[in-house]
Amino acid sequence: MTEYEAVILDIDGTIIRGDDLLSGAAAGIRTLEEAGCSRLLFSNNPTRGSAHYREKLAPYGLEVDPETVLTSATVTAQYLADTHPDERVFLVGSPRLETILEEAAIELTTAPDAADVVLGSFDREFSYSDLTDALQALEDGSAFYGTDPDTTIPVDGGTIPGSGAILAAMEAAAGREPDAILGKPSAVAAEAANARLEAPPERTLVVGDRLDTDIALGKQAGMETAVVLTGVTERADLEGGSPEPDHVLESLGDIETIL
Ligand SMILES: [Mg+2]
Repeated sequence: MTEYEAVILDIDGTIIRGDDLLSGAAAGIRTLEEAGCSRLLFSNNPTRGSAHYREKLAPYGLEVDPETVLTSATVTAQYLADTHPDERVFLVGSPRLETILEEAAIELTTAPDAADVVLGSFDREFSYSDLTDALQALEDGSAFYGTDPDTTIPVDGGTIPGSGAILAAMEAAAGREPDAILGKPSAVAAEAANARLEAPPERTLVVGDRLDTDIALGKQAGMETAVVLTGVTERADLEGGSPEPDHVLESLGDIETIL
């Protein structure tokens, strides 16, 4: 029997890498199901909604209810809908994030002067012109948010700049920090996860491959944490790494050892 009622699982680097299922992931998920833990998948990917992961994991025999998936995009959309209703959002972000925001009935504007809120995120088409417009919108005193803090994204053959790098450019130009960055490890993200799981934080386990997002989310929410070594963190990084996870697992397949 396990003391955990619920588990929050990161996706990239924990369950999958690129399009491949990580070794041990399916077994680990089965173990958690057999232990009776309710499960939430939580990705900081700001370009995907919940349904994407049902489709992505189905070929591996993993049944995923989109209601049990959060991404930094869905958390951001929900947060803006709740806290800035009827306000216009100037987005520096991907077309897919734009669609997710529109599906949440958020009104977008491309006119900097018309913006009440500026949202920065991963954008492959990010340009000097976007930065100029964002600066103009931020100078007007708009609220300023980011989807996620990830400065880089691991891809096949290297890394590419992520939302955090674009937010840093916006922050430098405007001379102000975002009011909040809404994905993991923010308090908003922890609350969104808690609301889905309906388990007390002290009986919730967070498993992920990044110390600064996954483990930090668990730490700040009072949850138990486990890092897996199947993603960006290697064993050598743990020496003096911060924040310190409660458990270290070679892969999700070893989850049984801490239940
Ligand atoms: Mg990850």
